[in-house]
Amino acid sequence: ETPPIKPTDQPAQASSPPLPRQNVKVAPPSPPRIIKDKHKGQEFTRIGLLGEGGFARVYEVEDRRKSSLACKVVTKQSLKTKKAKTKLYAEIKIHRSLKHPNIVSFTDCFEDDDNVYMTLELCHNGSLMDMLRKRRRFTEPESRYFMVQLLGACHYMHNHQVIHRDLKLGNIFLDANMNVKVGDFGLAALIESPGERKKTICGTPNYIAPEVLFDTANGHSFEVDTWSIGVILYTLVIGRPPFQTKDVKAIYKRIRDNEYEFPADRIVSDFVQDLVQQILTPDPQQRPTLHEILDHEWFTRGIVPACIPISAHEVTPDFR
Ligand code: ADP
Repeated sequence: ETPPIKPTDQPAQASSPPLPRQNVKVAPPSPPRIIKDKHKGQEFTRIGLLGEGGFARVYEVEDRRKSSLACKVVTKQSLKTKKAKTKLYAEIKIHRSLKHPNIVSFTDCFEDDDNVYMTLELCHNGSLMDMLRKRRRFTEPESRYFMVQLLGACHYMHNHQVIHRDLKLGNIFLDANMNVKVGDFGLAALIESPGERKKTICGTPNYIAPEVLFDTANGHSFEVDTWSIGVILYTLVIGRPPFQTKDVKAIYKRIRDNEYEFPADRIVSDFVQDLVQQILTPDPQQRPTLHEILDHEWFTRGIVPACIPISAHEVTPDFR
């Protein structure tokens, strides 16, 4: 049975073109209640399940000092192939090299007989995807707040030669103070020499840049993240992704034809429409740089809140 395609968050990777996997899932055994890092003599108490991703389960854990952390658990059972191991090592290598206030901080990693564990900064307020489901869509001031922090994180990654390749609302987390934290480096790539092009088809259908799907000979680079940021911006202010339709093939066709519109019944500013249109430029070389995005009038002539109240999960904040 083919799993239904959820609005935005089905990752697809390394097939051509990516289609949702037919995943018959057997729940792996839970990790022990006391998770031990034998080499460092550390212990973590497992509290509760935070979420499940493509190949990992993420738990809230407490260290001996009662500080809460997130712990990403990957079963060794799922790491039997060389490809799966290489993928996990790449994620660890990239994630642990990044230190930025808007990137989920990587604390440590270790293993026991059954699992590999990654301890991460805990994001108490879930993902922007969870929040959007409750709010339906965000105001433009809130969207500017999220975008400024996302652009900061992305600029830092690109300066460190990292392409995230799976930027989407479900991978943008919120800490206890509603700061943006970009997470999940499972599809991230390191550019090791200037001008290097990546060829692996990966990403999440709604957010994939056209060159990933349709310029496979030439490959892709940093601009794929810029494209996803354009999709994210549209989704924040409209409430659903621009190329969303019933099946993945139809989504890809709409991406290829640059076919999206701003619904007539929803009032969003001309500035935001212009910015989205600039970012969603099919030719990656013609897309604005991250600096140019921040210099757009949508940012410079609008309110950028310094913080967002926790109550924004339920009620629309008023920033007039
Ligand atoms: P995968 O790489 O398998 O997709 P993710 O890293 O996306 O796994 O994590 C899966 C889920 O776990 C997320 O959707 C989220 O609900 C939760 N999660 C992941 N990291 C954190 C974190 N640092 N803080 C809180 N929850 C998290």
